Amino acid sequence: MDYKNLEKTDPDTLAIIQKEEKRQETELEMIASENYVSSAVLEAMASVLNNKYSEGYPGKRYYGGNQVIDEIEILAQTRAKKIFGAEHVNVQPLSGSPANAAVYMAFLKPGDKVLGLKLDHGGHLSHGHKVNFSGMLYDFVQYEVDEKTGYIDMDEVEKLALKEKPKMIVAGFSAYSREIDWERFKEIADKIGAYTFADIAHTAGLIAAGVMKNPVSYFDVVSTTTHKTLRGPIGAMIMCREEHAKKVDRAVFPGMQGGPHEHITAAKAVSFLEADTEDFKNYAKQTILNAQALSNEMIKLGYKVISDGTDNHLIVVDMNSKSLSGKEAEVVLENIGISVSRSTIPNDPNPPMNPSGIRIGTAALTTRGMQEKEMKQIAKWIDSSVGNKENPEYLENIKKDVEKLSKEFPLPSSK
Ligand SMILES: *Cc1c(COP(=O)(O)O)cnc(C)c1O
Repeated sequence: MDYKNLEKTDPDTLAIIQKEEKRQETELEMIASENYVSSAVLEAMASVLNNKYSEGYPGKRYYGGNQVIDEIEILAQTRAKKIFGAEHVNVQPLSGSPANAAVYMAFLKPGDKVLGLKLDHGGHLSHGHKVNFSGMLYDFVQYEVDEKTGYIDMDEVEKLALKEKPKMIVAGFSAYSREIDWERFKEIADKIGAYTFADIAHTAGLIAAGVMKNPVSYFDVVSTTTHKTLRGPIGAMIMCREEHAKKVDRAVFPGMQGGPHEHITAAKAVSFLEADTEDFKNYAKQTILNAQALSNEMIKLGYKVISDGTDNHLIVVDMNSKSLSGKEAEVVLENIGISVSRSTIPNDPNPPMNPSGIRIGTAALTTRGMQEKEMKQIAKWIDSSVGNKENPEYLENIKKDVEKLSKEFPLPSSK
């Protein structure tokens, strides 16, 4: 990027930004919720749309001068509807958690019962964890994955739903590597008249590309972040059927939020256009192939991968199989320039701050052009650094190899 004005005004801030640029260019990003956006997305975010207040919706704003802003919001909505096949979309949610807060507000009253996937089984904080607003305001009952297979146990979900009769069933995850049986969720919800809510924050890009199943046409409501596999700016959106449009819009504004971030809306529009291309489809396909290659190699090297593989962009690895904790593994890998996140495993014997696993994602590196061959190499580096974790010299040498590979695959924004 060109920073000639920042350089004059605030060299201190610029120095930090450039340090982070260098870190991103020389290290490997394997946090499953991250990605690298294009220069076009970055430019839209840096635009004068930042200067405008636009509470309300196109044609119904609470501030003057929004004729042009209306155009950008409508463009983002139109493109989102096209790539997901949605009837209605709200592109204003500031991020995934506020989007989910708005979804609950639209469909539920505080105290209502909701079914969601348990955090240590791959769910998200906003799916009913007790330290999160969702668990404080609503009466969440949590379903789990089958301990042996690592797959969501749909018969258990059905049993729990029939017994508890929740008003809403949430399907979605942050650390689960299998296709979701959306149809079965819908069938179960229909038996008890519950609302269906899909949170596709992680796999939205894979769904938009058509390489994973899409719940949008028959679920009541679907939320997603725009910055994970979808590869847009940090933000979120909510899609729903027309019949729910009014209550969803009202929950986002004035229910949950004030003014939307229209420079981010513009960047969302750009990323939706990018997601509607052959290039993006190829990226989505390759992301899954890469996760599968990584998983196979890790299994070969003696690691326990939860559910023994993956259908999407991520794997969860049980580090108990190598006698170290997820946090220790995270630190060792940080030392060689590979970022991953510690993760709970199903029925984790250890606490969430020091869980047993790590979650590894392939979307970001696939964006940089890496393929199966690089994934195998990375698995080998992960294994040998774990095996030599007490040997700083050894780790330093691997870090150099990581940096060399990293430089061969520049960020999309530095090409
Ligand atoms: C990442 C994520 C969110 C939250 O997104 P933030 O933008 O971090 O608030 C919500 N739900 C799921 C399933 C996620 O993975």
